[in-house]
Amino acid sequence: MQLIHNFINGEFTAAAGGRIFEKRSPLNNLVIANVAEAGKAEVDAAVSAARAALKGPWGRMTIAERVDMLYAVANEINRRFDDFLAAEVADTGKPMSLARHIDIPRGAANFKIFADVVKNVPTEFFEMATPDGKGALNYAMRAPVGVVGVVCPWNLPLLLMTWKVGPALACGNAVVVKPSEETPQTATLLGEVMNTVGLPKGVYNVVHGFGPNSAGEFLTTHPDVDAITFTGETRTGAAIMKAAATGARPVSLEMGGKNPAIVFADCDFDAAIEGTMRSVFANCGQVCLGTERVYVERPIFDKFVAAMKKGAESLKLGRPEEADTGMGPLISQEHKSKVLSYYKKAAEEGATVVTGGGVPDMPGELKDGAWVQPTIWTGLPESASVVREEIFGPCCHIQPFDTEEQVLAWANDTTYGLAASVWTTNLQRGHRVAAAVEAGLVWVNSWFLRDLRTPFGGAKQSGIGREGGVHSLEFYTELKNVCIKL
Ligand code: NAD
Repeated sequence: MQLIHNFINGEFTAAAGGRIFEKRSPLNNLVIANVAEAGKAEVDAAVSAARAALKGPWGRMTIAERVDMLYAVANEINRRFDDFLAAEVADTGKPMSLARHIDIPRGAANFKIFADVVKNVPTEFFEMATPDGKGALNYAMRAPVGVVGVVCPWNLPLLLMTWKVGPALACGNAVVVKPSEETPQTATLLGEVMNTVGLPKGVYNVVHGFGPNSAGEFLTTHPDVDAITFTGETRTGAAIMKAAATGARPVSLEMGGKNPAIVFADCDFDAAIEGTMRSVFANCGQVCLGTERVYVERPIFDKFVAAMKKGAESLKLGRPEEADTGMGPLISQEHKSKVLSYYKKAAEEGATVVTGGGVPDMPGELKDGAWVQPTIWTGLPESASVVREEIFGPCCHIQPFDTEEQVLAWANDTTYGLAASVWTTNLQRGHRVAAAVEAGLVWVNSWFLRDLRTPFGGAKQSGIGREGGVHSLEFYTELKNVCIKL
C-alpha cells in the first residue's frame, strides 16, 4: 500500500511512531493509500523549517529570482501533468475531463499569475512639503509576512491550495500547508516539484492530518505562524479565527455559500440552462461558487424546470476516465450521509422531487462508492432547510418569482454572500441586479468565468478578505511606508 508522506524541510517523512490514517476512494470506498499523520512534533518541525528558510537563501533572493523559480514550478507541474491528474482523480473521483481542464491547469497558472503580479505591480510614492522648504519623500515597500499556515479543503485540492501558496511564495513567505485529510496526494506531489526546481528547503512544507486535536489545530494554534489562510466551511473558519486571535494574527477566510442563480424571462434560455446545469452539478455540486437556489421568472418557470430535469437525467454517472462521464461521486461516505440527510429533509418538508432524491443504482465494483443522484426540488417555502443551509451536493431548489424586488429580497435573505449568477439580456437590469446582490462575486450571463487578477472572496459569513491579483498582496505582505526627510 502506498504511504503518503509529510513534506518537511525538503524531505518526505513519516510520522513519529508510524502514525497513519487511511485514504479511501470515493468511487468504491476501498483503501487506496495510507497517509502519515502529523502530530505536534511534525507541525513544530515544519514551522521551524519555514522560519529558518526565511533567514536562508530564500530570504535573500531578488524578486526576479523568485519569479523565475515560480515559473519553473508552473512549468514542472505542466511537465508532470499526468501525475497530478492521476493523483487528483484518485483522491476525489472527479471526471478526468474536469480535472484536466480546471484543476491541474489552474494549479500551474496560480504560480505564474502571482509571479507576474509581484513583478509588475508598483507601490505608491508621495512627495510632501515641509516647513523648511526642503520637503520629504514617501515610498511604500512590501515585505513578506513570514510563516504562513495554509489550511485547505477537498473539493478543488490543487487549485485552491496553489491559489494561496502561489501568492504566498511570490511575496517571499514560507508556507506550511495542511491539505484536507480527504485529498492528501497533490500537495505531497508538489513537494517533488519544489525539490526538482531547487526551491530552498523549508520554503514549502506539507503536514497531513485532521482538524481539531490534529495537524489543522496544531498548525493554526502554533505561536510561530505569522498568518493563516483558510478555505473551507464557515464553522471551521470561525474556529480558526479564534485560534488566530491569540497573538493577533491576520486571517484570510474563504468559506461556505448558498449561492443564488436569478433567471429572468428575457434570458438566452439555452445559455441559462447550460450555465445553471454546470453551476448546480459540476464536480458533483461540490464547488463553493455553485448554485443551490435557482429563482426563475414565472413565464419561463415550467419550461426551465423541464429543461433542467432533462439535463440532470441525461448526466452519466461513472468512472473518471470514461469520456462520457458527466458526474462523479461525492468525496466520502461521511459527506454522502450529510447530502442524503438533506434529500430526506427536503421530502419531509414537502418538496416536489422533480428528479433524483436518492442513491443511483451503480454497477458492480462502484456499488459501495459515495454516489448520489443529481436532484432537483420545487415547491418549498424559502424557510425550508434545503433552501437555507449549504448542502454542497448535486442539488438545487427552483423557485418561481414575479418581480425583481421579490427575487432580490429572497436572494439576499441568507447569512452567506459568496457568489451569484444573473441571466438576462436586458443590460440595464444586469447591472442593476449585480449591484444589488449581496455577494463577493456576481456573474451576468455566465458562471465560473475567472480572470485571476480580479478580487475573489465572500461577503457576510462567506469570507473575510479578498484574494486574487493585487488583493493577494494585501494579505501576503506587510506594506511599509518609508519617509525620507530631504
Ligand atoms: P472543512 O472546513 O471541513 O475543512 C477544511 C480544512 O480545515 C480541512 O483541511 C480540515 O482538516 C481543516 N480543519 C477542520 N477543522 C479544523 C480546526 N478546528 N482547526 C484547523 N483546521 C481545521 O471544509 P471541507 O469540508 O474540506 O470543504 C467544504 C467547505 O469549503 C464548504 O463549506 C465550501 O463552501 C467551502 N469552500 C469555500 C471556498 C471559497 O472559496 N469560499 C472554496 C471551496 C470550498
